[in-house]
Amino acid sequence: MLTGRAMHVACVVLALFAAISARAAEPIEIFDAHLHYNWEPKPYYQPDEVLALFRKHRVTGILATSRPNAGTHALMDAKAEGLWVVPFIRPYRVRADIQSWFGDPVIFDLVQEEFKRGYYRGIGEFHLSGKSAENELVKKTVDFAVTNDLYLHAHADDEAVEILMRHNPKARIIWAHTGFGLPADRVSAMLTKYPKLWGELSYRSGIVDGSGKLTAEWRGLFERYPDRFLLGSDTWVPERWASYGDIMAGYRAWLGQLSPKIAAQIANGNAKALFAASP
Ligand SMILES: [Zn+2]
Repeated sequence: MLTGRAMHVACVVLALFAAISARAAEPIEIFDAHLHYNWEPKPYYQPDEVLALFRKHRVTGILATSRPNAGTHALMDAKAEGLWVVPFIRPYRVRADIQSWFGDPVIFDLVQEEFKRGYYRGIGEFHLSGKSAENELVKKTVDFAVTNDLYLHAHADDEAVEILMRHNPKARIIWAHTGFGLPADRVSAMLTKYPKLWGELSYRSGIVDGSGKLTAEWRGLFERYPDRFLLGSDTWVPERWASYGDIMAGYRAWLGQLSPKIAAQIANGNAKALFAASP
């Protein structure tokens, strides 16, 4: 006969096992909102290999881009079951375009030409630093996005994000890396000032401490803006594909420290809300 206390302990242990096995069976679904499937001149991993990787790590949606855009076309054409592909126009043909796209009229032509495929939901990821965002071609790109209901995916510092928003206050911007190491209170100020700004968290420092525990300031940000964050792998080089599983496991480790509701929003709900319908 179990005493009351022993009974209680047994119940706690059973509940724990149930929770662990439920979690093991069903890791939280992830939408990868920073995916590059580069294709220059050939893909490093074959389409079947990357599709298998998404399945293995329960990634059910991707914000897909590639340099050049051929990789995105291949992902769209694959029509893989259980994978939602949200394609963005990459304004780059080769890596060097990162440095010069914002002043190159050929790139603006490329964006408009690529848009004619009819399935794109955004433009990016593109790189901007500070006042490079002031270029007239950048303004034209922002206006083109607003006119055509496209999101922007900007790898930019806070100054460049502010310039983009000034170009056209109706812009909707996914902020790649959320400022990298920018102080959390500055991130908070940006999210408050710009309701159409979402932070994507690849390479973002400060979210967890050395022992993997969510920091107080980032828990605070997630609880204050649960509908403003997205996850991403940023597979910009083959090594990132090689560590794809670790990247996703890293996200799940801190998502598990948030309430299930907020964790689900960040893991996939926010992306679904953003891309499910045009405004
Ligand atoms: Zn990237």
